[in-house]
Amino acid sequence: MTTTQFEGVPSLAGEAPGRAGTVVMKFGGTSVADTERLLAVARRLVAAREAGNRVVAVLSAMGDTTDELVRLAHEMSPEPAPRELDMLISVGERVSCALATMAIHDLGHEAISLTGSQAGIVTDTAHGKAKIVDVRARRIHEALDENRIVLVAGFQGVSTDYDITTLGRGGSDTTAVALAVALGAEACEIYTDVEGVYTADPRLVPEARKLHAVSYEEMLEMAASGARVLQVRSVEVARNHRVKLHVRSTFSAADGTWIREEDERMLEKALISGVTHTREEMLYRVEGTDPARLFAILAEAGVNVDTIVRTGSEILFSAPAEDHESARDALDGLDVDWTARDDLGKVSVVGAGMKSHPGVAARAFETLAAAGIELEVVITSPIKIACHVRGEDVERAVLELHRAFQLDAPEAERQHA
Ligand code: ASP
Ligand code: MG
Repeated sequence: MTTTQFEGVPSLAGEAPGRAGTVVMKFGGTSVADTERLLAVARRLVAAREAGNRVVAVLSAMGDTTDELVRLAHEMSPEPAPRELDMLISVGERVSCALATMAIHDLGHEAISLTGSQAGIVTDTAHGKAKIVDVRARRIHEALDENRIVLVAGFQGVSTDYDITTLGRGGSDTTAVALAVALGAEACEIYTDVEGVYTADPRLVPEARKLHAVSYEEMLEMAASGARVLQVRSVEVARNHRVKLHVRSTFSAADGTWIREEDERMLEKALISGVTHTREEMLYRVEGTDPARLFAILAEAGVNVDTIVRTGSEILFSAPAEDHESARDALDGLDVDWTARDDLGKVSVVGAGMKSHPGVAARAFETLAAAGIELEVVITSPIKIACHVRGEDVERAVLELHRAFQLDAPEAERQHA
């Protein structure tokens, strides 16, 4: 069984419905890594404005600024207070927005930068992983009505207790989608350092193809199982509100990947949309507790549990390696026997076509068996087959599965006119 959590729906707080021609354009950290790139982003925003759009930009922090701020916090204190950590790490996005706004002014256009709080992004009070509960977009609408380009600092909001919060790593994607929903935008464009979503990680599989279209459900499974282009929660919000996303490169004008509702054309072309992987995933075995208690405690500790299997009195679950300390503390606090394996990774085959075509699992298992790759745990959902394999087998497993499902063929792209 896989569990997927759904994000609450940002309400519109009485805002007017969407106006024609609003676009939300989000740029990731690599796209704004230095002032030269920020200038290129500014030019792109100006071009969208000159084409007649109402332009809202969401920027990430420059390069690895956020990592650097987190590092600084831990240099200062072993356990920084979550509220102060959010005060600190929300700064990077503000820097990008202010700088890009200056560049837009110099290009002869009106623009204004806003923090998440000023932009009306209201969240719950969970520091470091806050959820958006409301978007009060009045100020953005006013600025757009004054012909300004509006730049909103990604990844942050203000809580119902009036504190600055952040939305979790990669959270600028969620800022962008939530704004697209609240503004009734026609498009939500996610500009990044890759050309789109691929049939596998192209660094690992040179023959991987860029997908033209992926359904929300596929993208959710892909993002949750290792595809790193989008924060999972941004895809949940997009799906809940049927906002189309376009993931594309900052550095070219090429069409990227559309993430949208499933349609028959996606299914007729290729059964499988992609093979994703994670190199490290901890697998825990727990004896002597009931699942309700166990998973409540893990959830409270912020452990992002993925796979759950229960057989007899034993419970097996997996979680990302970075959550290991929290998981360990939570399990130690329970009176249970537990062990963990850290030598495993996970390979997943994802595709909406699986629902209607039997034999995908058989082909996946045959392929791995023929390559001499042992499966430790196998989990399926209606559109995913995930296999835990030894870490050292992950790369080979991805290559073999990619070939077995002919994802190097042109049809894999799901290109249709
Ligand atoms: N800068 C934040 C991070 O690195 C948020 C984002 O870029 O989406 O996680
Ligand atoms: Mg990102």
